[in-house]
Amino acid sequence: GAGANDSKNLRVKLVLLGDSGVGKSCIVLRFVRGQFDPTSKVTVGASFLSQTIALQDSTTVKFEIWDTAGQERYAALAPLYYRGAAVAVVVYDITSTDSFNKAQYWIKELQKHGSPDIIMALVGNKADLQENRKVPTQDAMDCAEKNGMFFIETSAKTADNINQLFEEIAKRLPRPSS
Ligand code: GDP
Ligand code: MG
Repeated sequence: GAGANDSKNLRVKLVLLGDSGVGKSCIVLRFVRGQFDPTSKVTVGASFLSQTIALQDSTTVKFEIWDTAGQERYAALAPLYYRGAAVAVVVYDITSTDSFNKAQYWIKELQKHGSPDIIMALVGNKADLQENRKVPTQDAMDCAEKNGMFFIETSAKTADNINQLFEEIAKRLPRPSS
């Protein structure tokens, strides 16, 4: 059809949520530009980037990515970004228990106020920092399973599992019937 969401070309609004410093902006930069900038700037408010991927069945998925700021003073703005989002990616840092607790707060928030059919992913970033790990993989898997979420550990620094994260989300999108 003429619309953006025919059966072969999907367009989805995706929002990243999570504590400040967990690596949300670095994940987006790695996915969209293939880069990692250790001196990247703190996100103010929110930023927008898009990236299109092709799946094996030749479907294309255009991700319209809203990367939010994690700071408390922007928390009131978050619903503007997750409302109407088809996908929410909740990110924590595997070396920070606080950030994992904050992720659980975001999951509850999405369940209360997000779209009822929102697809949620739980992402443990900074998986390259194994020696500083504070959040056991099993704890995060249990949390994800309990909340019907897809779970993956990533590293924006090494690029580990970054493309896989978005590919797995793409596979879970409902396909409009043509
Ligand atoms: P945001 O506030 O969630 O957007 O976090 P940023 O993307 O700004 O990243 C915060 C800090 O964590 C920066 O200093 C990054 O260089 C660092 N960082 C982000 N991702 C990774 C990662 O996968 N591994 C490591 N070791 N550091 C990371
Ligand atoms: Mg940021």
